[in-house]
Amino acid sequence: MQACVLQKPAKVETNPLACIDVPAPQPASGEVLVRVNYCGVCRTDLHVVEGELPPRKSAVIPGHQVVGMVEKLGAGALKFAPGTRVGIAWLHHTDGTCQYCRSGAENLCDNPAFTGYTVDGGYAEYIVAPQNFVYAIPEQFPDEQAAPLLCAGIIGFRSLRLSGIQPSGKLGFYGFGAAAHLAIQVARHWNVEVYAATRDARHQKLALELGAKWAGGTLAVPPEKLDAAIVFAPAGEIVPAALAALRKGGTLVLGGIHMSPIPSFDYDLLYQERMIRSVANNTREDGRDFLRIAAEIPIRTRVQIFPLHEANRALNALKNDAIPGAAVLKVAG
Ligand SMILES: [Zn+2]
Ligand SMILES: [Zn+2]
Repeated sequence: MQACVLQKPAKVETNPLACIDVPAPQPASGEVLVRVNYCGVCRTDLHVVEGELPPRKSAVIPGHQVVGMVEKLGAGALKFAPGTRVGIAWLHHTDGTCQYCRSGAENLCDNPAFTGYTVDGGYAEYIVAPQNFVYAIPEQFPDEQAAPLLCAGIIGFRSLRLSGIQPSGKLGFYGFGAAAHLAIQVARHWNVEVYAATRDARHQKLALELGAKWAGGTLAVPPEKLDAAIVFAPAGEIVPAALAALRKGGTLVLGGIHMSPIPSFDYDLLYQERMIRSVANNTREDGRDFLRIAAEIPIRTRVQIFPLHEANRALNALKNDAIPGAAVLKVAG
C-alpha cells in the first residue's frame, strides 16, 4: 500500500515524510482493517513529525483523524460489517484495567496506544484498529468533512467541557485553527459568546464569520472579562495574557498536547481562584457525545484537501498558519 512514513523526526521544511510502498497491515483478533478515504492533519502530527513529542515508534505512519470503510475483520470482530463507514481517532487502545480506566478517565490510561504515534496511523491506504475504539460516523457528514471532527472536533469539545462554560457565558479562544473553528460552532449552539485572539488576520476573519463577538491579535485584550478561555495555540507566552483576561474564579484550559515553556508570571494573575488545567486525550464517551452533537447542530467543517503524497506540503502549510479551518489528506474515495 502507499503510505507516508516518518523514519526519523525532523523539521517539516525538510519534507521528512517519505511516501512509499509498504506492506498493508492485517487485522489481529478484535481489530478491523479499514481502507482509508480521508485522513485529517492535526497539529499533533506536526509535533510527532518534528520530534516535539519523543519518538515512540520508528518508523511510524502519522495520522489520527481517519475516515474509511471496514474492509476486513479480525477474529471475533463482529461489531462492524465490512463496508461500514467508520472513524479512527487518537485514542487507539487502553488497557481497561488501570486505576484511570476503572474510574472513567480512560483518557489518562497508564498503558495507552495512540494512533499515528505509538502505532501506525492514517497517512496510508490501510490502517488497523481495535473495533471497540472505532467510531460510527453520522451519515450527514461527507468523509472529508468528518475527518477533522475526530481530533480537532473531539479535543475542542473536551476543552469546552473542562472550561465549565455556561450558556450566555463569555469564552476566549487563543489560536483559531482546526479545533477552534469547530468548538466555536458548539459554543454558539450553546449560546456562549466567543472572543477570539489569534495572530493571523485570516483566522480572525473566520472567527467573526463563525459568530465570534470579537476577534483580535493573540495578546490583544478582549473588550470583556472572560468566564473561561481555551488556549489552542502551542505558545506558552499566551498563558499570562489569557489569565489576565479572566474574571475572578475563571478557568483557563490548555488544549494542546505540547506547549512552549510558560513564562513566569505574577501570582496576582492566578489569585482570586482562577484555575489553569490541561486537556489530555479524550474518552470514547467524549467522542461519541461530540459526534452526536456535531450532527445535531450540524457543524460545518472548513477543509483544505491535499493528496496523500503531499502530506509534507500540508504539514508545512499548517505550521505556517496557512490553513483556514482544517487540512485533510485525500487517500482514496
Ligand atoms: Zn488504563
Ligand atoms: Zn490530533
